[in-house]
Amino acid sequence: MTIKNYINGEFIAPIKDNWIDNYNPSIGEVYGQIPNSTKEDVAKAYEAAEKAFPTWSNTTLAERSRILLNIAEKISEKLDALANAEAKDNGKPLSLAKAIDIPRASSNFEFFANAITQFSSEAHETVGLNAMNFTLRQSIGVVGCISPWNLPLYLFTWKIAPAIAAGNCVVAKPSEVTPMTAYLIGEICNEAGLPKGVLNIVHGLGTTTGQAIIEHPKIKAISFTGGTATGAHIARTAAPMFKKLSLELGGKNPNIIFADCDYDKMLVTTVRSSFANQGQICLCGSRIFVEESIYERFKKDFIKKVAELKVGSPFETDTNVGALVSKAHLEKVKSYIAIAEEEGGKIVFGGEEIEVENFENGYYLQPTIIEVTSNQCKLNQEEIFGPVVTMMPFKTEAEVLEMANDVRYGLSATLWTQNLNRTMNFSKQLQVGIVWVNTWLLRDLRTPFGGMKASGVGREGGLEALRFFTEPKNVCIQYN
Ligand code: NDP
Repeated sequence: MTIKNYINGEFIAPIKDNWIDNYNPSIGEVYGQIPNSTKEDVAKAYEAAEKAFPTWSNTTLAERSRILLNIAEKISEKLDALANAEAKDNGKPLSLAKAIDIPRASSNFEFFANAITQFSSEAHETVGLNAMNFTLRQSIGVVGCISPWNLPLYLFTWKIAPAIAAGNCVVAKPSEVTPMTAYLIGEICNEAGLPKGVLNIVHGLGTTTGQAIIEHPKIKAISFTGGTATGAHIARTAAPMFKKLSLELGGKNPNIIFADCDYDKMLVTTVRSSFANQGQICLCGSRIFVEESIYERFKKDFIKKVAELKVGSPFETDTNVGALVSKAHLEKVKSYIAIAEEEGGKIVFGGEEIEVENFENGYYLQPTIIEVTSNQCKLNQEEIFGPVVTMMPFKTEAEVLEMANDVRYGLSATLWTQNLNRTMNFSKQLQVGIVWVNTWLLRDLRTPFGGMKASGVGREGGLEALRFFTEPKNVCIQYN
């Protein structure tokens, strides 16, 4: 299966004819090749985007909206094929790709198709000086979108849809670890009537292809989702060039459980918020803090429920936990499990690699629960991004709030309580961009999405994304 770059509406091989192996993580085998694109390929993609920009940015909102809705519809029509491709490329359960990843990719286009028709700008009358100000919100030009491997099509489209809805043309790069559904979206865009050059997809390594996008002198904005170290590197490169930057980075999210919570709902949701997508979601609650009075009960029930999760081939309908995305990532996650005991932690469930029948070379790991005694250990301070959670008891509100905030990341937090005062006080004091109370991963696409501290800069979602992908310009008119 050979993937090609999608440039100016056509599928083309990389200029230097260099290719990278693409792995199927559920069997640990190469199943295709993808372009190892160079800066020449990125330059070609940029030229196509630049050429398409004047017409696209002047296309009526109704027409842009219609094309985006067509794309959304075609994604839904191809749900099965796209979900299969995602499961094979990423290792995630097919059931999850069908229920979450692909429907959300369609919703991303549908949402921004509608949002752009409602987007408006401000006007300010300067009373007493006979002046009127109005703000134009103009398309930026050619923008770069770079996405990670954990929710491949979901996060790729979360950037591309608002970028093109706002009239920009795009040079995009998916992770080289999971390029398949981004490749398939090219054909969908052609079928949906997206003009040539509006979206260009260049495949390859982060350090070369991605690097060529971030340092391209004429790509004016970069929307990036990925690791914190990569985000810092991108900021170092792009900030001195005065590019607009949106950085959605890593997380180490607290899941705070008080004794007064709706226990059954909390338990079921906590299993999901710990291990959905093999724990490879930036929003997973990887640090579980439980009020002392229910700690032992929670520990027993949580272990029992996690033990019921079936680790297996992504393609079995009853699989809950599929394969990790790559051998390198499996080794990274295992290296954290290996230091648990050194750090005074105790593995109370899991911790072992699993051999799945007929999929023996796939990258499978048991969901793992580690009891820790301090929030200061590496397991609580560093992002593992796999099926590993820690848990520990707490006594007071002040103590758990301090531990929740005592980490370099600040993406999201989950709070389980029925107490309104506590809900309000925690919501105000948690140093994160997103707080979920008595739920997890409930997303309304109009809300601001993103993190503080080492979890990023800027917000995506709703109007925030449309503001990011447009340049405001104030016009002041004085009259007699
Ligand atoms: P990486 O930072 O390794 O990669 C993200 C993307 O950046 C990939 O497409 C990668 O390419 C590319 N890239 C790597 N180096 C460069 C570079 N020098 N210039 C430009 N692009 C580059 O992250 P992962 O793919 O490993 O994703 C996991 C991380 O993403 C986790 O930290 C997770 O928390 C975070 N994440 C954050 C989310 C959020 O919304 N805050 C949501 C989902 C994930 P390639 O893969 O080809 O090397």
